[in-house]
Amino acid sequence: MRQVETREWWLWGFAVTVTLVLTVGIVSLTIPGIQSSGTSPYWYDLRDWVRGLAALVLLFDIYTAYQQLQLQRVRRELAEKDQLFQVITENAADMIAVIDNNGQRLYNSPAYQKVLGYSAEDLKSTSSIEQIHPDDRDRVAEAAAKARSTGRGERLEYQVQHKDGTWRILESTASVIRGRSGEIESLVVVNRDITDRKRAEERLAHNSLHDSLTNLPNRSLFLERVRHALTLSQRHRTYKFAVLFIDIDQFKLFNDSLGHTHGDELLVQIAKRLSASLRGTDTISRPKFVGDKEVVDETESLARLGGDEFTVLIEDIRDSSDAIRVAERIQERMQLPFHVGGHEVVTSASIGIVFSASSYGRPDEVVRDAEIAMYRAKREGKALCRVFDNAMHVLAVKRLRLETELRKALELGEFRVHYQPLLSLPDQRVVGFEALSRWEKNGTLVPPGEFITVADETGIILPINRLLLREACEQLRAWHRRFPSDPPLRMSVNITPKQFAQPDLVPQMAAVLEELGMEPRNLDVEITETIAMNDAEKSGQVLKELKALGVHLSIDDFGTGYSSLSRLHAFPVDALKIDRAFISKIGADAESLEMVRVIVMLAHNLGLSVVAEGVETAEQMEQLTQMDCEVAQGFLFSRPVDHSSAEKFLEQHSKPVPLLVASTSSSKG
Ligand code: C2E
Ligand code: MG
Ligand code: MG
Repeated sequence: MRQVETREWWLWGFAVTVTLVLTVGIVSLTIPGIQSSGTSPYWYDLRDWVRGLAALVLLFDIYTAYQQLQLQRVRRELAEKDQLFQVITENAADMIAVIDNNGQRLYNSPAYQKVLGYSAEDLKSTSSIEQIHPDDRDRVAEAAAKARSTGRGERLEYQVQHKDGTWRILESTASVIRGRSGEIESLVVVNRDITDRKRAEERLAHNSLHDSLTNLPNRSLFLERVRHALTLSQRHRTYKFAVLFIDIDQFKLFNDSLGHTHGDELLVQIAKRLSASLRGTDTISRPKFVGDKEVVDETESLARLGGDEFTVLIEDIRDSSDAIRVAERIQERMQLPFHVGGHEVVTSASIGIVFSASSYGRPDEVVRDAEIAMYRAKREGKALCRVFDNAMHVLAVKRLRLETELRKALELGEFRVHYQPLLSLPDQRVVGFEALSRWEKNGTLVPPGEFITVADETGIILPINRLLLREACEQLRAWHRRFPSDPPLRMSVNITPKQFAQPDLVPQMAAVLEELGMEPRNLDVEITETIAMNDAEKSGQVLKELKALGVHLSIDDFGTGYSSLSRLHAFPVDALKIDRAFISKIGADAESLEMVRVIVMLAHNLGLSVVAEGVETAEQMEQLTQMDCEVAQGFLFSRPVDHSSAEKFLEQHSKPVPLLVASTSSSKG
């Protein structure tokens, strides 16, 4: 550029010099003295003409010099722009292409080589459409045509093949270059490789719809599929589907004993086995058609809702036996042992089944009913499969109503505490009370048997029993002041499974005891044998913490579970409460009598004291006294009664009294 310009300057300088020399030559002719050929008026005229001409030539020279300067400036600017364009296109991470109206490439930036592996030569020899994915070609061609006709391109995503054969996703925008008369000459396309971003987005979308542990669809995706099935069943009367709700029996036990890492591993194995057992079934692997494409998505019909809960959507079934067959197959396969962390684990599954019905409006209603049926299967013994029916629905509605009522009762303060005395044998002195909940509903007292289970399952038991604990402790403190004894009176409270599973059970109790200034040893915490045995390791831990707090511990309803005394011995408990089912039979049935005698003896051998529940007759009391049973509780002495009646009872029985007096003051509650 510089050379050209220098040459131009030389040329211009030469031309100007020549004109100047010529001009000076001509002008010199007009200078007096150089020409002395007289003073004719023509001569002077000529001189003026020549001077004028010289001035014009000078002006012209100045003008051309100015022009030349302008031209060079414009040229330099253009060159700079060109250089800038080159720097940008050559270094941009985006791929820039200029394509003529026939789709031939006029220019490709070096980024093509970096991103897609093609050199400029590779690209020059091919048309711009060749590397585009066949599925996207029409779309791209359409977009290019549209850009050419409207002069403005839209954002477009399409797939392009890398030189190594893999597919990359590009995002592109096109703009047009127009010719002299405004006609579109070519397209400038800027392409960006968004493969990584796309994959990350896809992964995010996948994660939000799948369970990270098993990679199975999660609740949202499953509900979406059920929604789809519901829509189909509403549209086509012949289309029926079923949902299975699967819960692994005693998974919590495995999880706690194997450790959570192995628990997770077990879940993954269960998920794999579930999808394998679905794959073989004719109902599941029957291909489905979407449009005219065949879709086989067996595993997609399986989902993990969380924990050990799995669901299966079985679509397009002929009749209910299809779903039941699937459930049975799952149960069969689940019973084969798993191998986790060097252990052999044998498990089973409880399955609830629900069939599509016109009454369902929402997918969660379907899943909810399958879950209700699963709970029924669990309650009736494990490893079962139950189909949801109307009776279950009625029951579920009743439970739901009860739950609402319980919440309201809690708000209105309708829960009362009743106290049933515990008496020492044989002197029948009151040694303590058991605090029992009552619900005062419209003037009548609802016994706990009618609401404790639902209260527990819904968690309402927690506030109910917090109030009970506080009230019972305050009552006990008042009685300690009025009826001092050695040892002091003790208050028994019951713990439900939900309460027992609360991580802060012990600190909560400790806080109440401390706040009310009550000695822990005067509180007796009753947990049923079933709760204690459900997860022996965890129970042992909680009981140990309770023991460390200093409270008295009893195993309630002993004999109704399946535990042996020696297993119970592993727990730091102080007393056994023999279930009233045994006590009620000891008068009539020699076997029960023998059983109770053995329990008392073994308990004593293990250093535990024994409480007999449900003592109703003097004969029962007599026999229990003979067996050296320490404490008795039952209608023979008193029903559970409110605090003032309990206090009256105390007044009469805080000292040893004969049995007859005791039995007359009972039956209030
Ligand atoms: P439980 O802890 O075994 O309580 C003893 C139950 O046996 C009481 O029933 C009591 O009224 C009854 N009972 C006592 N003596 C006799 C008798 O001689 N004959 C007969 N037939 N029954 C007798 P209740 O009060 O209906 O309580 C039932 C169960 O409900 C309790 O069994 C306890 O497990 C649970 N419960 C009651 N209140 C609460 C509470 O506030 N919290 C918790 N977690 N559980 C409670
Ligand atoms: Mg109890
Ligand atoms: Mg009991």
